[in-house]
Amino acid sequence: MHIEDPKIIAALPELSVELRRASSLAELTSLAIGGTTDLLRIRDHESIPGLLSLLDYHGVPHSFLGGGSNLLVGDGELPWIVLQLASPDPDVVLEGNFAQVDAAADLGRMVTYCAKHDLGGMEGLIGVPGTVGGALRMNAGAYGMQIGSYVREVKLYRAANRRLEILRGEQISFEYRHTSFAPDDMMLAVKLELPSKPYKEILQGIRICNEKRRSSQPLGQKSAGCIFKNPPGASAGRMIDELGLKGLSVGDARVSDRHANFFVNAGKASAKDMLALVAGVRERVHRAFHAELEHEVVIWNA
Ligand SMILES: Cc1cc2nc3c(=O)[nH]c(=O)nc-3n(C[C@H](O)[C@H](O)[C@H](O)COP(=O)(O)OP(=O)(O)OC[C@H]3O[C@@H](n4cnc5c(N)ncnc54)[C@H](O)[C@@H]3O)c2cc1C
Repeated sequence: MHIEDPKIIAALPELSVELRRASSLAELTSLAIGGTTDLLRIRDHESIPGLLSLLDYHGVPHSFLGGGSNLLVGDGELPWIVLQLASPDPDVVLEGNFAQVDAAADLGRMVTYCAKHDLGGMEGLIGVPGTVGGALRMNAGAYGMQIGSYVREVKLYRAANRRLEILRGEQISFEYRHTSFAPDDMMLAVKLELPSKPYKEILQGIRICNEKRRSSQPLGQKSAGCIFKNPPGASAGRMIDELGLKGLSVGDARVSDRHANFFVNAGKASAKDMLALVAGVRERVHRAFHAELEHEVVIWNA
């Protein structure tokens, strides 16, 4: 989508918002799939209510982009624009056992920064790409932990009342790759409470998690992590593997040979290829196991 309204374009500098024309989502996502649209980079949280009111008033639809590591974006020009937060400097501030973190902060860098200051608990998140905002939205987790367990406060833009708000941790429900935020809420910052742990001990945990990832995931390839959520008490990857679907391809979209729940872009896969592969695998799992696999990857398709 191309922002054409001169009133919107004229207001952007005052709102500290940068317009990036025809941004390629293939370049902004880890799957390297997706068409183009105008992107707005937001530098000041305080300008968000004004910006969103302006976009809504002029009927400009929008979605939020974090680090693009859990997204499968459609081909061609998107019929909405994309909003992305710019990261302030510093983006992590520590006070005792609390870390105040901007949603645009890189998740892995935040985990290592806290670790170097003897704050642990998040070792499992090492190797999860993307931003802290995306991790909050998805309640990212691995190896028995999830970010939601450490959340004490979230600053967000609440689309329902067009205001910036602070929610306490207990007001938010964090479930397996699901949170109680409304779909149009925008996470802006988080206060985490982390357990004290010596850096050396945290580093050992990080090494173990890194090793587990290296031995089981196609880390050098373009993917969005797990495509499907695990159904209660089962493993989506194991079901796909049992059906012998590792290596199954549609064009350059391919079920990883290493991890059956990772689908990779082995070359120039289109969204059409990847969506056909996802739907085909889902259908075969349904036929064989009577299980309805839910997408873990967020699909942006018109
Ligand atoms: C190699 C690899 C390994 C992975 N391993 C794991 C894993 O072990 N565990 C795990 O949980 N995930 C894993 N993932 C998936 C992904 O990294 C996580 O879901 C990550 O937290 C997504 O963050 P992001 O910033 O990239 O979000 P994006 O992909 O940009 O967005 C994901 C969703 O969050 C929304 N969103 C992003 N930022 C905001 C914001 N500030 N406010 C509101 N909504 C927002 C988007 O609109 C979208 O709906 C893996 C991915 C890859 C490529």
